[in-house]
Amino acid sequence: MKIAAYTHQGQPAVGLVSADLKEVRPLDLPAHLRAFGALPVIEALARGEPMPALGPAVALEHIQLTAPLPRPRRNIFCVGKNYHAHAKEFAGSGFDSSAKAGGDIPTVPIYFTKVPESVIGPNEPILVVPEVSTAIDYEAELAVVIGTGGKGIKAADAMKHVWGYTIINDVTARDWQSRHMQWVLGKSFDTFCPMGPWLVSADECDGTKTSVRCYVNGEERQNASTTDLIFDIPTLIETLSAGITLYPGDVIATGTPAGVGIGFKPPKYMKAGDVVRVEIDGIGVLESPVR
Ligand code: MG
Repeated sequence: MKIAAYTHQGQPAVGLVSADLKEVRPLDLPAHLRAFGALPVIEALARGEPMPALGPAVALEHIQLTAPLPRPRRNIFCVGKNYHAHAKEFAGSGFDSSAKAGGDIPTVPIYFTKVPESVIGPNEPILVVPEVSTAIDYEAELAVVIGTGGKGIKAADAMKHVWGYTIINDVTARDWQSRHMQWVLGKSFDTFCPMGPWLVSADECDGTKTSVRCYVNGEERQNASTTDLIFDIPTLIETLSAGITLYPGDVIATGTPAGVGIGFKPPKYMKAGDVVRVEIDGIGVLESPVR
């Protein structure tokens, strides 16, 4: 199934998207929960409750999609340098404050987070402010959404904890990422986490082997398979949950492939007027204008 969060006639709603992607049927959720998008649905399913009742279908063209998790319960967990080719391009960029000589490929997953308030929905603008950063980059990523929570989850059991997937653009201010010797500032600017277009359940999308692509103004920049991940999804969940309890609706962005703007000489950073389009097979398209 695909769970979308959206506004319809000015009101927040959550619903299931039809297989032909033409309609959405709203879920009967209490009004105070609808602003949290798919989160209360994932939580209810994790408690073993049935899916809320469905209302009458509405054409997708009559709604406005928002991020499926517009207000995540806490920071988005993210993994840095998790594709072999990207780890090499990033180490070679001179911007990598974590790079060590001869050690381009990490030996353990590199985790950081983005604050929940950085999340925006499909077609909402990524804001670039030249006075603050002149090196704003895109990163197309598959994001895992946790269903059943847990702690000390072993890799062999990890996929049972995955509810499904969505797309994230892990927008990054490279100058801040380098200068401040950590990643949270440059990754968490307002609007730096486009998410969507919806959540797709794991029975409809195999995140362990799907294709991730990114286009800027129609020019292909990234194109890779998640089979090229350095640390696969079970390993990421095992590592993260060793000391941190995971909850339903937690989001783990699995890293970006080669082809980010900083990998070009000279770098191809985003500028006002650009349109960034991320596609993942089995999920859909997440497009963001840059302003
Ligand atoms: Mg990233």
